[in-house]
Amino acid sequence: MTNKRCKILGYNVDLLSFKDAAAFVSDKMAKNQGLHIITINPEIMALADRYSELADIINKSELVLPESAGIKIALRFKGIKQEKIPGIDFSKELLHICSRMNYPVSLIGAKEDILVNTLENLKKEFPNLDIVYSHNGYFKDDEIIINKLKESKPKFILCALGAPKQELFVNKCIKLYSNAIYIGIGGSFDVWAGKVKRAPLILQKSGLEWLYRTLKQPSRLKRIYKTLPMFLFRAIIECVRK
Ligand code: UDP
Repeated sequence: MTNKRCKILGYNVDLLSFKDAAAFVSDKMAKNQGLHIITINPEIMALADRYSELADIINKSELVLPESAGIKIALRFKGIKQEKIPGIDFSKELLHICSRMNYPVSLIGAKEDILVNTLENLKKEFPNLDIVYSHNGYFKDDEIIINKLKESKPKFILCALGAPKQELFVNKCIKLYSNAIYIGIGGSFDVWAGKVKRAPLILQKSGLEWLYRTLKQPSRLKRIYKTLPMFLFRAIIECVRK
Protein backbone atom coordinates (compact mmCIF):
# COMPACT_ATOMS: atom_id res chain seq x y z
CA MET A 1 0.00 0.00 0.00
CA THR A 2 1.43 3.38 -0.93
CA ASN A 3 -0.45 5.63 1.47
CA LYS A 4 1.14 7.09 4.55
CA ARG A 5 0.90 5.42 7.90
CA CYS A 6 2.10 6.37 11.33
CA LYS A 7 2.33 4.73 14.71
CA ILE A 8 0.39 5.66 17.82
CA LEU A 9 1.57 3.93 20.99
CA GLY A 10 3.23 1.27 18.85
CA TYR A 11 0.22 0.54 16.60
CA ASN A 12 -0.01 1.30 12.90
CA VAL A 13 -2.63 3.78 11.76
CA ASP A 14 -3.18 4.50 8.07
CA LEU A 15 -3.51 8.11 6.99
CA LEU A 16 -5.88 8.32 4.05
CA SER A 17 -9.30 9.60 3.13
CA PHE A 18 -12.49 7.56 3.36
CA LYS A 19 -12.67 7.69 -0.45
CA ASP A 20 -9.12 6.43 -0.96
CA ALA A 21 -9.62 3.66 1.59
CA ALA A 22 -12.78 2.54 -0.24
CA ALA A 23 -10.93 2.65 -3.59
CA PHE A 24 -8.11 0.55 -2.12
CA VAL A 25 -10.52 -2.13 -0.89
CA SER A 26 -12.56 -2.03 -4.08
CA ASP A 27 -9.38 -2.71 -6.06
CA LYS A 28 -8.57 -5.66 -3.78
CA MET A 29 -12.08 -7.04 -4.30
CA ALA A 30 -11.74 -6.75 -8.06
CA LYS A 31 -8.42 -8.62 -7.91
CA ASN A 32 -9.85 -11.31 -5.61
CA GLN A 33 -7.29 -10.52 -2.94
CA GLY A 34 -7.70 -11.01 0.79
CA LEU A 35 -7.54 -8.31 3.45
CA HIS A 36 -8.30 -7.94 7.14
CA ILE A 37 -9.41 -4.35 7.73
CA ILE A 38 -8.79 -3.13 11.26
CA THR A 39 -10.75 -0.21 12.65
CA ILE A 40 -8.60 1.13 15.42
CA ASN A 41 -9.65 3.06 18.52
CA PRO A 42 -8.27 3.53 22.06
CA GLU A 43 -10.28 0.55 23.38
CA ILE A 44 -8.78 -1.86 20.84
CA MET A 45 -5.31 -0.48 21.57
CA ALA A 46 -5.84 -1.10 25.30
CA LEU A 47 -6.92 -4.67 24.51
CA ALA A 48 -3.90 -5.13 22.25
CA ASP A 49 -1.63 -4.02 25.09
CA ARG A 50 -2.95 -7.05 26.98
CA TYR A 51 -3.24 -9.58 24.14
CA SER A 52 -0.08 -9.79 22.07
CA GLU A 53 -1.90 -11.81 19.40
CA LEU A 54 -4.25 -8.86 18.82
CA ALA A 55 -1.26 -6.48 18.68
CA ASP A 56 0.32 -8.68 15.97
CA ILE A 57 -2.94 -8.83 14.02
CA ILE A 58 -3.23 -5.02 14.04
CA ASN A 59 0.34 -4.45 12.98
CA LYS A 60 0.28 -6.95 10.16
CA SER A 61 -2.95 -5.60 8.67
CA GLU A 62 -2.62 -3.81 5.35
CA LEU A 63 -5.38 -1.36 6.26
CA VAL A 64 -5.81 0.12 9.74
CA LEU A 65 -8.56 2.73 9.71
CA PRO A 66 -8.57 5.56 12.27
CA GLU A 67 -12.09 5.00 13.46
CA SER A 68 -12.57 7.17 16.50
CA ALA A 69 -12.35 10.72 17.79
CA GLY A 70 -9.65 9.60 20.26
CA ILE A 71 -7.36 8.51 17.40
CA LYS A 72 -8.10 11.72 15.52
CA ILE A 73 -7.06 13.77 18.58
CA ALA A 74 -3.88 11.69 19.07
CA LEU A 75 -2.98 12.35 15.43
CA ARG A 76 -3.57 16.09 15.94
CA PHE A 77 -1.01 15.98 18.78
CA LYS A 78 1.44 14.83 16.10
CA GLY A 79 0.35 17.66 13.79
CA ILE A 80 -1.57 15.31 11.49
CA LYS A 81 -5.04 16.25 10.28
CA GLN A 82 -6.95 13.08 9.49
CA GLU A 83 -10.63 12.39 9.03
CA LYS A 84 -12.15 9.68 11.17
CA ILE A 85 -13.33 6.59 9.28
CA PRO A 86 -15.93 4.73 11.36
CA GLY A 87 -16.12 1.02 10.58
CA ILE A 88 -19.92 1.15 10.42
CA ASP A 89 -19.90 3.81 7.67
CA PHE A 90 -17.00 2.24 5.83
CA SER A 91 -18.73 -1.16 5.81
CA LYS A 92 -21.87 0.44 4.36
CA GLU A 93 -19.78 1.90 1.55
CA LEU A 94 -18.32 -1.55 0.87
CA LEU A 95 -21.84 -3.02 0.82
CA HIS A 96 -22.74 -0.42 -1.83
CA ILE A 97 -19.80 -1.62 -3.91
CA CYS A 98 -20.76 -5.29 -3.43
CA SER A 99 -24.35 -4.59 -4.38
CA ARG A 100 -23.27 -2.69 -7.50
CA MET A 101 -20.69 -5.28 -8.55
CA ASN A 102 -22.75 -8.31 -7.55
CA TYR A 103 -20.08 -9.50 -5.11
CA PRO A 104 -21.31 -12.11 -2.60
CA VAL A 105 -21.38 -11.05 1.04
CA SER A 106 -21.51 -12.79 4.39
CA LEU A 107 -22.55 -11.57 7.84
CA ILE A 108 -21.39 -13.19 11.08
CA GLY A 109 -22.29 -11.86 14.50
CA ALA A 110 -24.79 -10.48 17.02
CA LYS A 111 -27.77 -12.22 18.58
CA GLU A 112 -30.07 -14.20 16.29
CA ASP A 113 -32.98 -11.69 16.35
CA ILE A 114 -30.59 -8.80 15.69
CA LEU A 115 -29.03 -10.67 12.78
CA VAL A 116 -32.46 -11.45 11.28
CA ASN A 117 -33.50 -7.77 11.50
CA THR A 118 -30.17 -6.67 10.06
CA LEU A 119 -30.59 -9.01 7.09
CA GLU A 120 -34.14 -7.73 6.50
CA ASN A 121 -33.07 -4.09 6.65
CA LEU A 122 -30.05 -4.63 4.40
CA LYS A 123 -32.27 -6.42 1.87
CA LYS A 124 -34.56 -3.36 1.86
CA GLU A 125 -31.64 -0.97 1.47
CA PHE A 126 -29.77 -3.08 -1.11
CA PRO A 127 -32.32 -5.20 -3.00
CA ASN A 128 -29.55 -6.63 -5.21
CA LEU A 129 -27.19 -7.55 -2.40
CA ASP A 130 -26.20 -11.21 -2.61
CA ILE A 131 -25.94 -12.42 0.99
CA VAL A 132 -24.66 -15.96 0.58
CA TYR A 133 -24.18 -16.89 4.24
CA SER A 134 -24.97 -15.51 7.67
CA HIS A 135 -24.75 -16.76 11.23
CA ASN A 136 -25.28 -15.24 14.66
CA GLY A 137 -22.22 -14.53 16.79
CA TYR A 138 -22.87 -17.11 19.47
CA PHE A 139 -21.29 -20.22 17.97
CA LYS A 140 -18.99 -22.67 19.69
CA ASP A 141 -17.18 -24.24 16.77
CA ASP A 142 -15.24 -21.82 14.57
CA GLU A 143 -14.45 -24.59 12.08
CA ILE A 144 -18.12 -25.09 11.17
CA ILE A 145 -18.51 -21.40 10.35
CA ILE A 146 -15.22 -21.30 8.43
CA ASN A 147 -16.24 -24.35 6.38
CA LYS A 148 -19.55 -22.68 5.54
CA LEU A 149 -17.66 -19.59 4.41
CA LYS A 150 -15.40 -21.71 2.23
CA GLU A 151 -18.46 -23.36 0.65
CA SER A 152 -20.44 -20.16 0.07
CA LYS A 153 -17.42 -18.11 -1.15
CA PRO A 154 -18.29 -14.56 -0.12
CA LYS A 155 -16.01 -11.75 -1.25
CA PHE A 156 -16.83 -9.51 1.71
CA ILE A 157 -17.29 -10.81 5.27
CA LEU A 158 -18.58 -8.63 8.09
CA CYS A 159 -17.85 -9.89 11.60
CA ALA A 160 -19.75 -8.22 14.42
CA LEU A 161 -18.54 -10.14 17.46
CA GLY A 162 -16.98 -7.28 19.45
CA ALA A 163 -13.24 -6.85 20.01
CA PRO A 164 -11.00 -8.78 20.39
CA LYS A 165 -13.17 -11.81 19.53
CA GLN A 166 -13.86 -10.65 15.98
CA GLU A 167 -10.21 -9.88 15.21
CA LEU A 168 -9.05 -13.27 16.54
CA PHE A 169 -11.82 -15.03 14.61
CA VAL A 170 -10.99 -13.20 11.36
CA ASN A 171 -7.33 -14.01 11.82
CA LYS A 172 -8.24 -17.68 11.96
CA CYS A 173 -10.66 -17.47 9.02
CA ILE A 174 -8.34 -15.62 6.68
CA LYS A 175 -5.71 -18.35 7.01
CA LEU A 176 -8.18 -20.95 5.76
CA TYR A 177 -10.29 -18.82 3.43
CA SER A 178 -7.97 -16.12 2.24
CA ASN A 179 -9.43 -14.45 -0.86
CA ALA A 180 -11.96 -12.28 0.92
CA ILE A 181 -12.16 -8.88 2.55
CA TYR A 182 -12.89 -9.10 6.28
CA ILE A 183 -13.84 -6.36 8.71
CA GLY A 184 -14.68 -6.48 12.41
CA ILE A 185 -17.50 -4.04 13.13
CA GLY A 186 -18.42 -4.51 16.79
CA GLY A 187 -22.00 -3.51 17.55
CA SER A 188 -22.91 -2.32 14.03
CA PHE A 189 -25.57 -4.99 13.46
CA ASP A 190 -27.37 -3.70 16.57
CA VAL A 191 -27.55 -0.33 14.81
CA TRP A 192 -28.55 -1.74 11.42
CA ALA A 193 -31.22 -3.86 13.09
CA GLY A 194 -32.69 -0.70 14.59
CA LYS A 195 -32.05 -1.77 18.17
CA VAL A 196 -29.38 0.82 18.93
CA LYS A 197 -29.64 4.38 17.63
CA ARG A 198 -26.59 6.20 16.33
CA ALA A 199 -25.84 9.67 17.63
CA PRO A 200 -27.30 12.60 15.66
CA LEU A 201 -25.06 13.58 12.74
CA ILE A 202 -23.90 16.75 14.45
CA LEU A 203 -22.50 14.69 17.36
CA GLN A 204 -20.94 12.16 14.97
CA LYS A 205 -19.22 14.99 13.07
CA SER A 206 -18.04 16.77 16.20
CA GLY A 207 -16.43 13.59 17.54
CA LEU A 208 -18.91 13.17 20.39
CA GLU A 209 -20.59 9.94 19.27
CA TRP A 210 -18.83 8.09 22.09
CA LEU A 211 -20.49 10.42 24.63
CA TYR A 212 -23.93 9.79 23.12
CA ARG A 213 -23.37 6.01 23.12
CA THR A 214 -22.22 6.14 26.72
CA LEU A 215 -25.26 8.14 27.83
CA LYS A 216 -27.53 5.67 26.02
CA GLN A 217 -25.66 2.62 27.33
CA PRO A 218 -24.13 3.61 30.71
CA SER A 219 -22.54 0.15 30.91
CA ARG A 220 -20.01 1.45 28.34
CA LEU A 221 -18.76 4.05 30.82
CA LYS A 222 -16.44 1.61 32.55
CA ARG A 223 -14.80 0.71 29.23
CA ILE A 224 -14.33 4.33 28.25
CA TYR A 225 -13.08 5.78 31.50
CA LYS A 226 -10.63 2.90 31.81
CA THR A 227 -9.11 3.55 28.40
CA LEU A 228 -9.67 7.05 26.99
CA PRO A 229 -7.96 9.31 29.61
CA MET A 230 -4.92 7.00 29.81
CA PHE A 231 -4.79 6.75 26.01
CA LEU A 232 -4.76 10.55 25.61
CA PHE A 233 -2.19 10.94 28.40
CA ARG A 234 0.12 8.37 26.81
CA ALA A 235 -0.37 9.90 23.36
CA ILE A 236 0.69 13.33 24.70
CA ILE A 237 3.75 11.84 26.41
CA GLU A 238 4.68 10.04 23.17
CA CYS A 239 4.59 13.37 21.27
CA VAL A 240 6.54 15.30 23.91
CA ARG A 241 9.29 12.65 23.94
CA LYS A 242 9.80 12.75 20.17
N1 UDP B 1 -21.28 -10.49 20.16
C1 UDP B 1 -21.35 -11.68 19.48
N2 UDP B 1 -20.77 -12.79 20.03
C2 UDP B 1 -20.15 -12.77 21.23
C3 UDP B 1 -20.06 -11.53 21.92
C4 UDP B 1 -20.64 -10.41 21.35
O1 UDP B 1 -21.90 -11.75 18.39
O2 UDP B 1 -19.66 -13.80 21.67
C5 UDP B 1 -21.92 -9.30 19.56
C6 UDP B 1 -22.93 -8.62 20.46
O3 UDP B 1 -24.18 -9.27 20.36
C7 UDP B 1 -22.91 -7.21 19.86
C8 UDP B 1 -21.47 -7.06 19.37
O4 UDP B 1 -20.92 -8.35 19.33
O5 UDP B 1 -23.79 -7.17 18.77
C9 UDP B 1 -20.55 -6.26 20.31
O6 UDP B 1 -20.99 -5.03 20.44
P1 UDP B 1 -20.17 -3.91 21.24
O7 UDP B 1 -21.14 -2.80 21.43
O8 UDP B 1 -19.50 -4.48 22.42
O9 UDP B 1 -19.04 -3.55 20.19
P2 UDP B 1 -18.39 -2.12 19.85
O10 UDP B 1 -19.27 -1.48 18.83
O11 UDP B 1 -18.26 -1.37 21.11
O12 UDP B 1 -17.05 -2.54 19.29
